[in-house]
Amino acid sequence: MIENKIVLDENEIPKKWYNIQADLPSPLDPPLNPQTKKPIGPQDLSAIFPIGLIKQEVSQDRYIPIPDEVREIYKLWRPSPLYRARNLEKYLKTTAKIYYKWEGVSPPGSHKPNSAVAQAYYNKEAGIERLVTETGAGQWGSALAFATMLFDIKCRIYMVKCSYEQKPYRRVLIQNWGAEIFPSPTKLTKAGQEIIKKNPNTTGSLGIAISEAVEDAATHDDTNYSLGSVLNHVCLHQTVIGLEMKKQFEQIDQYPDIIVGCVGGGSNFSGACFPFVKDKIDGKKPDLKVVSVEPLACPTLTKGEYRYDFGDAIGLTPLLRMYTLGHNYVPPAIHAGGLRYHGDAPLLCKLTKERYMEAVAYYQKEVFEAATIFAKTEGFVVAPETAHAVEAAIDFARMAKNKNEEKTIVFANSGHGYFDLSGYDAYHNNKMINYVHPEKEIKKAMASLIKI
Ligand SMILES: *Cc1c(COP(=O)(O)O)cnc(C)c1O
Repeated sequence: MIENKIVLDENEIPKKWYNIQADLPSPLDPPLNPQTKKPIGPQDLSAIFPIGLIKQEVSQDRYIPIPDEVREIYKLWRPSPLYRARNLEKYLKTTAKIYYKWEGVSPPGSHKPNSAVAQAYYNKEAGIERLVTETGAGQWGSALAFATMLFDIKCRIYMVKCSYEQKPYRRVLIQNWGAEIFPSPTKLTKAGQEIIKKNPNTTGSLGIAISEAVEDAATHDDTNYSLGSVLNHVCLHQTVIGLEMKKQFEQIDQYPDIIVGCVGGGSNFSGACFPFVKDKIDGKKPDLKVVSVEPLACPTLTKGEYRYDFGDAIGLTPLLRMYTLGHNYVPPAIHAGGLRYHGDAPLLCKLTKERYMEAVAYYQKEVFEAATIFAKTEGFVVAPETAHAVEAAIDFARMAKNKNEEKTIVFANSGHGYFDLSGYDAYHNNKMINYVHPEKEIKKAMASLIKI
């Protein structure tokens, strides 16, 4: 049988999420309270998160049941298909097999509702009436607007200013699902006012928008904060991707040699790869290559330092041990807005530090070239973030061809790019800028880090 698309039944949607904390070679360094520099406890998080999510954040249980209500909603688009990219293989004349797990089938068009729906569920359970969040390219904002609509929760979104301007249709989508949305920095929060005073023309950043949302949640009783990436519970929810993928590969009697995915805060790739990284930790697949892909304009894993830093730009969040470029680093306004984050998920960082995972970084133009090849061969127009994973998959397929190796490559195809066509437009009209690694800016941001 020649398979092109490997699908699962609705009843094969995972019943449990996989928690890699149970299998780490050594425990994560705990998040620290910035004032005391002591590990924070659950009570420190309860001002902005519901108990259900706090428990997941620190859980050491290997598998955590997915509530029936959440699985019912997942059925709208899950299980998502695993495709074999035969036309791309032909185009590259590669000896490798290329697969991709397509998360663009969800209503908001990315992997993000896998966590948004779960987060809305646990907040509803805790009696929360309003959720606030930040969004970069608008993918997370639209996912949370969609999820809160399903659970009848109010929603406010702070959207990074340069993306708000580049991507007006994401704003409209968010408003369609009934949420409020503002370009960040705003004058609605102290954090926003402070940034505007210092730099009135700022393009905004994810870190700044997080500061605004956290402040909003901390100052309203009925309101919680919701984060679309980075935290352990978000990576946990996304493991439905990798758990399904494993079943799909079993169905065709294959196992990947190389898994790649783009990393902004690390959630889609953590979700896709952790169930496979487990096999590597267990010694069953020692040669498995697990590769994160990031922009050279924001090279967190490839150029950052592994140390404690704030999750946001102002310094409101606990300190997290992760690869970081410095919390007040503002990356150039690349089209992949969702990859403009100074840090990455502590779980993914730890596994990178311990060499279970590795990372590469690319220029903006080369990833759009790859995404255009992908559109011409496979048809799907991927998000600028996802384009990074496409470029890496193509690179590995070319390497396999050069060495005449039969590698099986799979990439996490995290979402579609139908709201990101302005980036493709800039690419086609030769107006795209290749930002080089902003070494000076990063040095400056790193110099301001707290020493632990
Ligand atoms: C947000 C987003 C990303 C980056 O976020 P991660 O948490 O690293 O997954 C990647 N791809 C798409 C399509 C996104 O919307």
